[in-house]
Amino acid sequence: MQTFIHTLLADTEEGREADCILRRCVHCGFCNATCPTFQLLGDERDSPRGRIYLIKEMLENNTATRETQLHLDRCLTCRACETTCPSGVEYNRLLEIGRSLAERHAQRPTSERLQRIALLETVPNPARMRPLLKLGRAARAFLPAQIRRSLPRTAARKASWPTASHSRHVLLLEGCVQSVTHPQINAAAARLLDRLGVRAVPAAGCCGALAHHLTAEQRTRDTARRNIDAWWADVESGAEAVLLSASGCAPTVQEYGRLLKDDPSYAEKAARLSALAMDISEFVENEDTEKMRPKTTPQSPIAFHAPCSLQHGLRRSGRVERLLTSLGFELIPIADAHLCCGSAGSYSILQRELSERLLNEKVRHLEAGSPQVIATANIGCLAHLESGTDIPVRHWVELLA
Ligand code: SF4
Ligand code: SF4
Repeated sequence: MQTFIHTLLADTEEGREADCILRRCVHCGFCNATCPTFQLLGDERDSPRGRIYLIKEMLENNTATRETQLHLDRCLTCRACETTCPSGVEYNRLLEIGRSLAERHAQRPTSERLQRIALLETVPNPARMRPLLKLGRAARAFLPAQIRRSLPRTAARKASWPTASHSRHVLLLEGCVQSVTHPQINAAAARLLDRLGVRAVPAAGCCGALAHHLTAEQRTRDTARRNIDAWWADVESGAEAVLLSASGCAPTVQEYGRLLKDDPSYAEKAARLSALAMDISEFVENEDTEKMRPKTTPQSPIAFHAPCSLQHGLRRSGRVERLLTSLGFELIPIADAHLCCGSAGSYSILQRELSERLLNEKVRHLEAGSPQVIATANIGCLAHLESGTDIPVRHWVELLA
């Protein structure tokens, strides 16, 4: 693709990076075939190729309209287009640059700005989320059906972590939403690691994914710095890895190195932390899998929903499914497994209608084989799927632990 980046942007780091990405795109449109928003809306501007053109236009004119911003907002950042692209276009990075430019030039309506601030001030903060959730549960009967459905069905179960000490240890991120609504997931992950002879050290905090999705760049960097400070002693004491049981968090922590590369106080530490960060499935697959075999007969059949972060972001398509199958679980094939469930971070709140349509479609495919359980690997997908089905939804580590 030929480009003429605006003179004010051409010599900036972002301008150069975006130019490089744009030049790889050959407009073939293969990516459009796997894009959920293009499938739903049929508008080229809601497809990856169309968004690439919109971003190119912004970079060439150094401006952005509200309409362009709307089409970029509608992107789920599912990255199915990256998996499909034969030219290796880094669409997600280009979108980040495009969104940041749109944020600088286009004026969001006040209601949208307030909604985004409210999300940033509550969701990543367990001390604020807990009372709000409690309030929501108490008032459940009076809430609109949509909000009622999105509240967790049951109160968070108290979940203790194993206390045995082992010579090996890892950091396990507790996370924000997950630590409030489903703390049992990390407790199960810690038990699983315990069986493998690895002690899981709880790493408190939010990874920063929500701020990253909402183009709150300064806040994302501050979160990364705070986490580095909080986790550094354990990294220095020989933690083998920084594990994320929510697959949506792993790509964000792996980004810390890039985000802080110009900060002399943090660049080196951030790069080391990024190198240590991985989804828990990546860590356990290098261990003795026999030790993970459940003691009782596994609940089967299972419908596994592979989160986009796992299959497209981390490129670990089929890995958890193979692990579960090797441990005796029967997995049902799922139609259109590459498509997003509509959760996508804050998407289910900010793009409610599109998100609901994707959820209904996903649930229809997952329920088709009458599974006993739906399993997944990311808290966002888990909570979103729970709001659309009566079949129990679990994180896969819970099934093993
Ligand atoms: S990230 Fe997903 S929604 Fe966005 S353009 Fe790519 S395939 Fe479409
Ligand atoms: S598949 Fe890749 S090269 Fe083809 S239009 Fe999409 S992003 Fe461009």
